[in-house]
Amino acid sequence: MKKVMLQLFVAVLCLLTLPAWAAPPRIHVMILDGESAATYHNWRVTTQVLKKELEEVGFFDVDVLTAPPAGGDFSSFKPEWSKYQVIVFNYDAPDDRWSADIKTSFETYIKNGGGLVTVHASDNAFPGWVAFNEMIGVGGWRKRDENAGPHWFYKDGKLASDPGPGKAGHHGLRKPFLMTERTPEHPIMKGLPKTWMHQNDELYDNLRGPGKNMTVLATAYSDPANSGTGLDEPMLMVLSYGKGRIFHTAYGHDAFALSSIDAVVTFQRGVEWAATGKVTQKLPTTFPTSNTVSYRSDLAAMDPNSVKGANPLDTPAKAK
Ligand code: ZN
Repeated sequence: MKKVMLQLFVAVLCLLTLPAWAAPPRIHVMILDGESAATYHNWRVTTQVLKKELEEVGFFDVDVLTAPPAGGDFSSFKPEWSKYQVIVFNYDAPDDRWSADIKTSFETYIKNGGGLVTVHASDNAFPGWVAFNEMIGVGGWRKRDENAGPHWFYKDGKLASDPGPGKAGHHGLRKPFLMTERTPEHPIMKGLPKTWMHQNDELYDNLRGPGKNMTVLATAYSDPANSGTGLDEPMLMVLSYGKGRIFHTAYGHDAFALSSIDAVVTFQRGVEWAATGKVTQKLPTTFPTSNTVSYRSDLAAMDPNSVKGANPLDTPAKAK
């Protein structure tokens, strides 16, 4: 009888503790938003899309921190970076928006092994903040030019750079474009096809920056027929800064762009990798092919304007 009781006790103990070891550890994510240059980016909507994409994975706990607007009161803006394994920037602010103390606290967090993911125009932010530009590798706009660093691109299958003078940041009309993987062995890229089509989005070209400790995961062919450079421009990058891991995705002008299955997959994987250094997520069978786009209509519908192409930026934009 005693033996039966003991077995029963062990069985109950196993049942009680099983979920704790069977479930993957939770990953705490902060999405930081609150500002965009002018009205180019509807961050209120895109943050909800990004949050939904992460929550669907099942092991991300997502908090959104909205920074005060331009002219707002920053006295109580003291982000608790270290409560999170990874910070997602859906945020584009000028250099003088944050105090030196906030910038230093963020640098320390990343140096000590924090994770960072920057989405789309987040690489426009803080042109004069040296550490931030080292974290993102390349950036554009906000008066960046050759002083920010060379223009980085792929040529003859290799990463190359041009230090010549010129403005940083430009894109053509939002159209589907062809992506090429460059570092297939990276965990974020595991199982992805050699090439695929990305949904309507801005293809950033002429991004410039220090490019230190930067590995390009995938490039986009910037078609001269759409005012592009004729070069393969970096779109998905990983970097290190101290012990910190950074995933930089240039995808994601709006909900429609973020709904592209490749944008969903690389974002979900990139956040996991920046937090843990590993990727445990499988590739969906709906991943786009070399001649067909594939997107999530439920995510795209989160911003009806982006589907209709009614955004004013749906016109050719010159480097500025
Ligand atoms: Zn954009």
